[in-house]
Amino acid sequence: MKKLTITLAFLFSITFFAYPQKSPLQGVRGQGITVEPTFWWTNMHNPALQLMIYGKNIAKWDVNIDVPGISVVEKKLTDNPNYIFLYLNIAKDAKAGYFNIELKNGRNKQTIQYELKNRVPNSANRESFSEKDNVYLIMPDRFANGNQMNDSIKGYFQGANRSDLAFRQGGDIEGMIQKIPYLADLGITALWTTPLLDNNDTQYSYHHYGATDYYKIDPRLGTNDDYLRLSRTAQQHGIKLIIDVVPNHCGGGHWWVKDLPAKDWFNVWDTYTSSNYRMTAWTDPHASEADRYRLTHGWFAPNMPDLNLSNPLLFDYLKQAYIFWIERAEIAGMRVDTYPYNDLKTASAFIQAIRDEYPRMNVVGECWVKTPAEIAYYQSGNNNKDGFDSRLQSVMDFVLKDKLQEVFNEKEGWETGTAKFYSHFAQDFVYANTNLVMNFVDNHDIDRLSIAVKNDVKKYKMALAMLTTVRGYPQIYYGTEIMLEGIPGDYQGHRFTFPGGWADDKRDAFTADGRTADENEIFDYLKKLLNYRKDNPVLQNGKMTQFIPENGVYVFFRNNDEKTVMVVCNNNDEKAVLDTKRFHERLRDYEIGVDIISRTPHELKDGVEIEGKTVLVLELGHWL
Ligand code: CA
Repeated sequence: MKKLTITLAFLFSITFFAYPQKSPLQGVRGQGITVEPTFWWTNMHNPALQLMIYGKNIAKWDVNIDVPGISVVEKKLTDNPNYIFLYLNIAKDAKAGYFNIELKNGRNKQTIQYELKNRVPNSANRESFSEKDNVYLIMPDRFANGNQMNDSIKGYFQGANRSDLAFRQGGDIEGMIQKIPYLADLGITALWTTPLLDNNDTQYSYHHYGATDYYKIDPRLGTNDDYLRLSRTAQQHGIKLIIDVVPNHCGGGHWWVKDLPAKDWFNVWDTYTSSNYRMTAWTDPHASEADRYRLTHGWFAPNMPDLNLSNPLLFDYLKQAYIFWIERAEIAGMRVDTYPYNDLKTASAFIQAIRDEYPRMNVVGECWVKTPAEIAYYQSGNNNKDGFDSRLQSVMDFVLKDKLQEVFNEKEGWETGTAKFYSHFAQDFVYANTNLVMNFVDNHDIDRLSIAVKNDVKKYKMALAMLTTVRGYPQIYYGTEIMLEGIPGDYQGHRFTFPGGWADDKRDAFTADGRTADENEIFDYLKKLLNYRKDNPVLQNGKMTQFIPENGVYVFFRNNDEKTVMVVCNNNDEKAVLDTKRFHERLRDYEIGVDIISRTPHELKDGVEIEGKTVLVLELGHWL
């Protein structure tokens, strides 16, 4: 990666080529100039390009470009004289290569060489993730350490310290690249990594949700080229890459903090003010403006400055930063962090602005709300009374996550046990598109399923069977395939390292030999479920039909023109024999149901026998 930095000490006209830059802050101290984006492309859908030009008193300098196809539209200044926001128009006939940006201040002249690259063919129409996919979520610092040389980097506050999970562990992009075949074997088709951007904060840097440089992959995770290599390796194994987009906050260590581009770049308060974290303020028809203001303008965390995306210069800056990575690393989809903590109209416009460049790109939003009605509000196409459209094609079912963690611990009752699944899916009328609801049993912010079911293998497998067969598409959190342990109610406790990801680990749970018997049972089970789902559209977008639970057994079907799958969930401790008469409307054309895991056929007309605490997934068919 190269960043443009030129020295202003020269009092004569001189041309500087891009060279690796040590840090943007040194640009100020060294009286240099920083330009972002670090480069751009020709033939983007949007011909406008904002260049943030940063240097001591740069605002006074005149800017001129005399190149065919490239013109200066506007030089926008802020209350900080160290910034120019230069808006260019890149016409369709603009050629790829370097061009000169001439800066002039009296007799002083400077030239910046800026690069436009050719786009990769068809990059605007890359296939995105959808309900067809099985998504895997990785927190890269915790997954696998493929390169011990980058565990600690000079100039970076934190290096690896494996004695404490609050510190970095050393996992990286190389580690993910090495495990791509493992993921493909498991049945994964899309990979969502938590952010990879530079996060040089003094503490808690490992999660990378606080960017300190939007144009640089954190060197402790890898290089900018490594990100592309990850993407291409994944593509070769049929896996699409999803980027984690964080519009709400940056890192406290971002160089902006010491020289704000504008007074309103961040949401500023006289004293530290946190968000009220009450996202109900958006959907509540009785909400006060004060509560909404506190929700969006209050900070998510003290060490992460709250970005004011309503500042149009920041809006364009951040929009371009994520377009940069989508183009640069051949990204197929987006996950948006803490969506409702932004002003909603601005967040929606932000997502749409990126999708203008990538119209087929699906976006899944983290809208961590407590009811199906509220989740549905955030799915694009929902018939919201206020006309709001989030531009998020996909939303995360946080409510189902709760049910998947609690139902198998409960006795069956009118409103307990599997009745919770039944009533949950009965509320699906609120969604614009249930196929694009993302399901999960755990993620990096919540207790692991292993905690919720106290490592009960039967209950654990029941949750995985439900996760992969109900409407929507599944997201698997790294380690869930081996029932990775955790600590309840503790961020670090949700983020243990994957056994075998480190050279000095006692065992390698990426291999069957390195897994315990329980871990292999769960891994093999999930692998079969995921691969079946991957190969069978009936579980991707087949119609779902559910029956009211009776005697502690919940039954639902998925069907399309080719296939019908019957899922039987026995939440009793004891074996049950399911009388199938009640399911005639779905069973009448079939004689048997073949267990997709064991390949055992079950005769349907005599009733289906099912062990206690078991989910049977049956593909319906006929005796030959
Ligand atoms: Ca490393």
